[in-house]
Amino acid sequence: VAEPAIGTLGKAGITLADIGGLAEVKKRLDMSFLTPLRNPELRLQFGKSLRGGLLLWGPPGCGKTLIARALAGELGASFYEIGLSDVLDMWIGSSERNLRSIFDTARRNRPCLLFFDEMDALGQKRSQLRGGSSMRGVVNQMLAELDGASTDNEGLFVLAASNHPWDIDSALLRPGRFDRTVLVLPPDAQAREAILRLHLRGRPTERLDLAKIAKGTDGMSGADLALVCEQATETAMEESMASGRVQPITQRHLQDAARSVRPSIGEW
Ligand code: ATP
Repeated sequence: VAEPAIGTLGKAGITLADIGGLAEVKKRLDMSFLTPLRNPELRLQFGKSLRGGLLLWGPPGCGKTLIARALAGELGASFYEIGLSDVLDMWIGSSERNLRSIFDTARRNRPCLLFFDEMDALGQKRSQLRGGSSMRGVVNQMLAELDGASTDNEGLFVLAASNHPWDIDSALLRPGRFDRTVLVLPPDAQAREAILRLHLRGRPTERLDLAKIAKGTDGMSGADLALVCEQATETAMEESMASGRVQPITQRHLQDAARSVRPSIGEW
């Protein structure tokens, strides 16, 4: 894989099993992308192509980027991540050029899952833009790339994430473009427990009651829970350093960490 001039391209490195909760989302992805991939005969019979666009939306830190990466892992596709600043350029016309080069790179690396973060800013409703805004060209370029002749885009999966999907130009959401939308909700208690377990995987711990921590962390996103685990780990490491032998992560470490992390859901 040649290093692209724009964005980050590489192997996904994870699968859906590395994501806690989100059972419905996983099922949707399975139906839309994985079943067709794994059943080539059925795919041919139904004339289903191996391409497609999907918009993930929901509050920050709940796993949109993680899902996109894991889907790339499941598809055996390269993962090409693009942030807003990778596209936008102060010079008129440069953003369109950037976008064209991004899609060219993605097509060269098929099968490829191209992931756009902060899609609301990138694909703003053209009607809301001030006259002369260069963003209009960006939306038009994005439409052209998504529509590309069907053979060009075979093996290209385009996913986007947004916290404010209502700001996205509706033309981008039409069939053949980001036509599937999936809501990525904050984790419930059961999912929080699964996320905690994933983030403590492989680390020395005492016997833990993670269900109890999960119950006490209502309103926390996956990212908040990852932080709780990091803080508990740091405390255990500090104690290990001080005592000269490995001190496992304890229930208390996790409880203290959970108290110090502010739940971010609710501000959305
Ligand atoms: P944003 O809208 O801010 O881009 P996001 O929804 O894309 O947020 P991610 O980047 O996927 O959020 O999640 C941030 C981090 O939180 C992940 O790298 C992971 O460590 C953790 N995380 C979030 N959700 C989950 C989950 N369901 N299972 C395991 N870890 C999670």
